[in-house]
Amino acid sequence: MRSGAGGPRPSEIGPRLKIPTLSYGDSLPSEHTRLCWTDDIAPQHNLLALPLPGPIEKFALCVRMSTAEVQNVIIIGAGIIGCTIAYYLTEDPAYKDSNIKITIIEASAKGCSQGASGKSGGLVAKWAYPKNLVNVSFPEHVRLAEKHNGAERWGWRFVGCGNWEGRGEDVGPDAEKQMEPERRRSLEKTVGLGDDWKKRSRADKGLPDDLDWVNEELTDSYSQMAPKGHTAQVQPYLFTRNMLELAKEQGAQFVPGKVTSINIDSNAKSVTGVTYTDIKTGQQETISATHVVLAAGPWSSKLIPALPINATRAHSITIIPEAGYSISPYVLFTDVTFPDESPLGNNSVSPEVYARPNNEWYCCGTGDNLDLPETVDQVEVDQSICENIYQQVVGISSKMRHGKVDRRQACYLPTISAGGDPVVGEATTLAKGLIIATGHTCWGISNAPGTGKAVAEQILHGKITCANLNNLSPARFL
Ligand SMILES: Cc1cc2nc3c(=O)[nH]c(=O)nc-3n(C[C@H](O)[C@H](O)[C@H](O)COP(=O)(O)OP(=O)(O)OC[C@H]3O[C@@H](n4cnc5c(N)ncnc54)[C@H](O)[C@@H]3O)c2cc1C
Repeated sequence: MRSGAGGPRPSEIGPRLKIPTLSYGDSLPSEHTRLCWTDDIAPQHNLLALPLPGPIEKFALCVRMSTAEVQNVIIIGAGIIGCTIAYYLTEDPAYKDSNIKITIIEASAKGCSQGASGKSGGLVAKWAYPKNLVNVSFPEHVRLAEKHNGAERWGWRFVGCGNWEGRGEDVGPDAEKQMEPERRRSLEKTVGLGDDWKKRSRADKGLPDDLDWVNEELTDSYSQMAPKGHTAQVQPYLFTRNMLELAKEQGAQFVPGKVTSINIDSNAKSVTGVTYTDIKTGQQETISATHVVLAAGPWSSKLIPALPINATRAHSITIIPEAGYSISPYVLFTDVTFPDESPLGNNSVSPEVYARPNNEWYCCGTGDNLDLPETVDQVEVDQSICENIYQQVVGISSKMRHGKVDRRQACYLPTISAGGDPVVGEATTLAKGLIIATGHTCWGISNAPGTGKAVAEQILHGKITCANLNNLSPARFL
């Protein structure tokens, strides 16, 4: 039989496969041959498809290629986007049958998820944006949690989510001593009214009965932001680490290194690999690749300057409640007005407060523009900003005031200066095989599964089919 003789052409034969000529009667080692449905053959399967003539059209005799045809996928960045892409690559049935090697290169000496992916709120919402990515991501979050016991592994759960408006008490550094008697007195005034008054008041304000960790007397209003079942949460650090671990179990490799360049063959207009500095040895290394995925969050434009990715530093703190107190599951977007004479006053402030499944509060404030450092390990934490967030949240919650601050941290949010939506897709105008997945702004945790699935489809099947993501294409900028 000669290759290409008669019958239909296989639908997807990779450009890198060399077609040898076989003569009629030539034998092939049986473990390397199989009959395939031509529509199922994609380049990454590493199969040479020889079409068969006659009535069995649409089938081909497939010959497994040598290991020289191994495809290398390099993912730059082990934040939630990079790790989730690695997971989806290894979960796809096409991966099992392929010679694809996946390598995740991460610049932190401390492992994965050291940036925003480990220090963010972790909200997962049906009402996030962009819609086309959300419509894939939300059900995928639900599926992943069911498949891998996400409740236990990464704190997956549904939460109430609302907008809280009210007044803040200026507690100052000696909060407990100064404010407790005052607050007790104001509560005592209402004793004669009985519980009905409290109930009415809560209902009037819209405050749910179990949301007992914001002070009722400081609440002006609470309004639920989305119907039940539309808002969930994960612990982003644990989710990211689990995605990486699950990908590693299927053969993906993790390399601590800072990528210094994405290498492109300008004649062929395709990626050839990356050069990176090994974190342990300090040596420069170059590895070849058929696909390079840029998932470096706010650092992405350091490698491709034409990408309009900016970085906003944001601080957060976590608070552990006093022993025996169980925090009800709510996420609050607040609008708090402090008294004029307060250092926090004259303006309203809007800290976000997330009750977390490990029984802690996560609280974050607004961002600033301090320059992005070279690596995630050099991010500076400004203690005064953390203290400010603390004063804002304990000003509306005596429960938090009775708790203890556990972590004070900062990270950089990847923002996109043009258009707002993330960049997801192959940057064919720059180089074939170069995939960009970055600029997820404040919804990277929520939208990681949709991004991972789409990028895996692009690499393994040559196109994105889970959604129409044309509006997120890198062609917008490159
Ligand atoms: C305060 C705050 C709260 C948030 N809350 C939410 C929320 O509730 N829900 C939600 O959906 N989203 C939230 N987000 C947004 C979310 O955290 C981000 O969109 C998401 O983490 C971005 O993930 P990433 O993987 O793109 O980037 P990152 O997490 O920054 O990861 C990028 C990784 O790439 C590595 N890297 C960079 N350059 C190189 C290089 N040259 N070589 C190798 N590695 C490199 C970095 O070290 C880093 O580990 C929040 C963000 C902030 C700041």
